[in-house]
Amino acid sequence: MTALALPALGHCRCGAIEFRVSAPPLLTMACHCRGCQRMSASAFSLSAAFPAPAFELTRGEPVIGGLRNPELRHYFCPACMSWLYTRFLPTFVNVRATMLDETAWCAPYVETWTRARLPWAQTGAAHHFDEFPTMDEFQSLIGAFQRDWARA
Ligand SMILES: [Zn+2]
Ligand SMILES: [Zn+2]
Repeated sequence: MTALALPALGHCRCGAIEFRVSAPPLLTMACHCRGCQRMSASAFSLSAAFPAPAFELTRGEPVIGGLRNPELRHYFCPACMSWLYTRFLPTFVNVRATMLDETAWCAPYVETWTRARLPWAQTGAAHHFDEFPTMDEFQSLIGAFQRDWARA
């Protein structure tokens, strides 16, 4: 496990959108839900939550995709359609971890929606939830991640 060097740069598949993060992740997650399976075209999505003020778009203008729920906004590159990040609480940005240039640091600490997990899909996450954790559980997971993981 390597630490994420900061600031960390990221971009979409075609490079039309670039961004940077300037603080360590709060939590890393894999989500096995059917929505993530479809949007990622894979078995599960991989993300890392960063404090909102630490996230900065440096090039291009993403568009909203997915179900376009105003409460849960998924941002994509309008040219190559890469899924870049998600916003649902004002306090953090959930970056699709593989859009960052460095990926070796990122392993999921929590996995959600294991109810929909493909039988062979193993993530190695330390914490598992049938569906989504509650907001209180999220808060304690963030605390646990800071203790167990970010410090490793
Ligand atoms: Zn692109
Ligand atoms: Zn999901």
